[in-house]
Amino acid sequence: MVPVAYRLRGMATEIFDLAIVGGGLAGGLVAIAANQRHPGLSLTLLEAGESFGGNHRWSWFESDLDPAATALLARFPHQRWTTGHDVRFPATRRHLGANYRSLSSRDFDAALRRELPQRAVGTGRQVAALDAQGVTLASGERIAARAVIDCRDFVPSPHLNGGWQVFAGQHIRTDRPHGLAAPVIMDADLAQHGAYRFVYSLPLSADELFVEDTYYADGPELDRAALTERIAAYREERGWAGAIIGEEAGVLPVVTGGDAAMHRALMAAPGVGLAGARGLFAHPLTSYTLPFAAANALAIAAALPLDGAGIAALLDRRAAEHWRAMRFYRHLGRMLFRAAVPEERWRIFARFYRLPEPLIARFYAGRSTPLDRLRILSGRPPVPITRALPALLGKGPPLVQGAAG
Ligand SMILES: Cc1cc2nc3c(=O)[nH]c(=O)nc-3n(C[C@H](O)[C@H](O)[C@H](O)COP(=O)(O)OP(=O)(O)OC[C@H]3O[C@@H](n4cnc5c(N)ncnc54)[C@H](O)[C@@H]3O)c2cc1C
Repeated sequence: MVPVAYRLRGMATEIFDLAIVGGGLAGGLVAIAANQRHPGLSLTLLEAGESFGGNHRWSWFESDLDPAATALLARFPHQRWTTGHDVRFPATRRHLGANYRSLSSRDFDAALRRELPQRAVGTGRQVAALDAQGVTLASGERIAARAVIDCRDFVPSPHLNGGWQVFAGQHIRTDRPHGLAAPVIMDADLAQHGAYRFVYSLPLSADELFVEDTYYADGPELDRAALTERIAAYREERGWAGAIIGEEAGVLPVVTGGDAAMHRALMAAPGVGLAGARGLFAHPLTSYTLPFAAANALAIAAALPLDGAGIAALLDRRAAEHWRAMRFYRHLGRMLFRAAVPEERWRIFARFYRLPEPLIARFYAGRSTPLDRLRILSGRPPVPITRALPALLGKGPPLVQGAAG
C-alpha cells in the first residue's frame, strides 16, 4: 500500500494506512509487527516523549509467550537468563526452572528506530485529538490515516475497582562482583511496612544489578524517598555498594473488578482501536502487559489491511475475551486487598509458590486451567474464610477516589 498524496489548503500531505498513537510497549510492538508483515504499509508511530518506551524495563518469563510472540520480541535485543529464578518468603526459599527475559526501553527505542522506515518514527509528537480519520497534534498539524490505534498510557476511570502496585527500581554498577547468579523475582522475606512488599533483583552482568522495591498498596501514592531508603538498606545488607546508573518508578493498577466495556467506551474515540494498558490488556494481578501486547500486535498485523472500524472491532472483541479470561485473577486480587490484613498479604504468595511449577508458569501467562484455579483456591486458606468470602463477592474499592465501588 502506497500513501496517497493530495493537497489540503495548499499543503502537500498524505493519508497513512495506519497511525499508532503512543510509542510505548503496545504501540511499538504493533508498529514492528505490522511493518514486518506488510513492508509496503505506510504507518506512523506518534510518541509524545523524546524516546520510544519511556524509562522502563519490561520483563517476562519465556513461558509467557508462544513462538510467534517470542520471535516478535527477538527483534529487540534483550537480556536472557537460562538460570531459572528464585523466590523467597519468611522461612521458605524456592528455585524455579522458568527462564526470565528483560528488555530495556533504551534497546526498545533503538530497535524501533533501526527497523521502522525513517518516515514512520515520530518522537516529540504530542497528539491532542484523535478520530477515525486521523490525529491532530498539539502543534495543530493534522495527520490523516485510514486506521488509527490508540496506545496511549493507562488512565483510571470510575468504571474500575482495585488497588495499586507501586515500585521504584535502581540500575546499579557494583564496586565488585555482586555474586547474584539468577534473577530473584520476589524476595518477600522483609519488613512489609503495611503492604505486600517484595524486592526484585536482576543480575544484568557480573557487576550490574537491577533492584526494585515493590508494594501492593490501597492507594496510588508513590513515596519515592521511602522506597529509595529501603533499596539502600537492602543493598547494604547484601554488600551491593556501587553507583546508581539508572532509575525507574511506577504506579500500576491492580484491577479487581468493574465494567471493562464501560471503561473502554469512556476511553475510546469512535472508529479508533484501543490497545495497550489503557485498553485493559493487562494481567490484573501483576499489571504486566507484555504477553498481551505481543499477541495483539500479531493479531492486528495478521488482520491488516483493515480499516479503522475493523481494527476497533477486532480490539473490542479481543478486550472482551481478555476481560473474561482474567476473571479469576481479579478474584484473587480482591482476596489480596480485602481479605488479608496488609502485613499478612505475603502469606497468599508464599502459599501459591508451594504449588507445581507448570501451574505457576500458567498463572503468570494468564492461562490458568480450571484445575489450576481449584488448586490455587483449595486447601487451608492463607486468609480467614470470613474475610475471603465477602472479598470474593465484592468488586473491590474504586480506582478513582470518590467513584462508586
Ligand atoms: C517502570 C515500569 C516497569 C514496568 N515493568 C513491566 C514489566 O517488567 N513487564 C510488563 O509486562 N509490564 C511492565 N510494566 C507495566 C507497563 O505498564 C506495561 O507493560 C507497558 O509499558 C504498557 O504499555 P503501553 O504501551 O500500554 O503503555 P506505555 O508503555 O505507558 O506507553 C504509552 C505511551 O503513550 C505515550 N503517550 C501518552 N499520551 C500521548 C499523546 N497524547 N501523544 C503521543 N503519545 C502519547 C506515552 O508517552 C507512552 O510512551 C511496567 C510499568 C512501569 C511504569
